[in-house]
Amino acid sequence: MSAEKKVSLAEKRRQKKVDCDKLCPEWGCAQPYEYEGVWVVGEVDEQGITEPSLQMLTPARRIADKLETFVEGILLGSDREQLEKAAKEMIYHGADRVRILVSEELATYIPGVYGEAIARLAEARKPEVIFLAATMRGREIAPYVAGLLKAGITADCTQFEVDEETGDLLMIRPPFAAILLAYIKTPFRRPQIATARPNIFPLPPRDESREGEIVWENPEDYKLSKPPISLVKVEMLKRSEVPIEKAEYIVSGGRGVGTKEGFKTLEELAEILGGVVAGSRKAVDLGLIPHERQVGQTGKSVRPKLYIAVGISGAAQHVIGIREAGLVVAINKDPDAPIFKNADYGIVADWREALPILIEELRKLKERSGKTG
Ligand SMILES: Cc1cc2nc3c(=O)[nH]c(=O)nc-3n(C[C@H](O)[C@H](O)[C@H](O)COP(=O)(O)OP(=O)(O)OC[C@H]3O[C@@H](n4cnc5c(N)ncnc54)[C@H](O)[C@@H]3O)c2cc1C
Repeated sequence: MSAEKKVSLAEKRRQKKVDCDKLCPEWGCAQPYEYEGVWVVGEVDEQGITEPSLQMLTPARRIADKLETFVEGILLGSDREQLEKAAKEMIYHGADRVRILVSEELATYIPGVYGEAIARLAEARKPEVIFLAATMRGREIAPYVAGLLKAGITADCTQFEVDEETGDLLMIRPPFAAILLAYIKTPFRRPQIATARPNIFPLPPRDESREGEIVWENPEDYKLSKPPISLVKVEMLKRSEVPIEKAEYIVSGGRGVGTKEGFKTLEELAEILGGVVAGSRKAVDLGLIPHERQVGQTGKSVRPKLYIAVGISGAAQHVIGIREAGLVVAINKDPDAPIFKNADYGIVADWREALPILIEELRKLKERSGKTG
């Protein structure tokens, strides 16, 4: 039996030393052991803390437990009451502590100012890892933070692990073709910054009995730049439909659907199912559907119970967005279309023939059962 003492990951992290002579001198040099904790940047909108940022507490908790460290939420804004509520939600979902920075400069969301605030907080508090949800905001803010901290950033990760030898975060993501997985790490710089798209990680269970600390940061300690732009007007987009990332039933159309008229048939089917319409990038490029309804690598990841792909070929960049979908049904006139490899049921047909039959049968079924879905 080996008498070798088992060194914990936490110890390995503390022992890790970076050779500063090998680094770019203008960037300065800090040792990894000076950094501690996993941060999740929380996003708050009119409805409170957003689900994608709460989802990021799932990998944060896992990685923090592995590294034997803590999870902190970071909240920015100007409305104390709203931020306090959001902080409690972060604690109920797994954060140990939430730091809140309240400032008039943060009353309006401006990516450069928000990025600067997070970077200033990180310079002072030195987190080891920063996670952001890859929402529109997260995608905007993360590069500002990374640029100001001269740290790396790995966007759109699908998994996180810890390097057992060094304690470095392994940020795992599919490269362009989505067939391989790239393992990316930032061995010499801290914090290690990464984003993951909404719905890649599940929402952690909410436990109101969880306790945590709320720290109100002193805004005097973090002098922020005056926003270079001012907000003139806010116009809310009409949000009558459920966002695709939350939908249980999705009817998705591709270039094969061809026209806006064609998409009306998809809407008809979606309505019967109590679902929503989405589309491929080609459908977005053709102006058949707005970008916020695009599924895939440069769109959104969805996790409906049922995903019906109509006239979609099934390119790797599209199917990566439906990996978490329950049942996938594909309708395509080409029997060799790759989408069939990713579908549970395939209908080889022209959608113009298949969809009206499907709609009629579902209507009959609905009439008989007297309920939706
Ligand atoms: C970096 C990068 C990122 C990308 N990100 C995304 C992304 O996020 N989401 C995404 O979707 N794509 C993305 N793409 C594009 C992707 O590679 C494909 O080009 C795109 O998904 C194809 O869209 P499509 O299936 O609608 O069109 P096509 O590939 O043209 O397929 C149309 C399909 O419709 C079928 N069809 C035609 N007429 C009918 C009919 N009457 N009835 C039934 N079937 C019919 C055809 O047989 C064909 O299979 C990305 C590409 C790159 C390079």
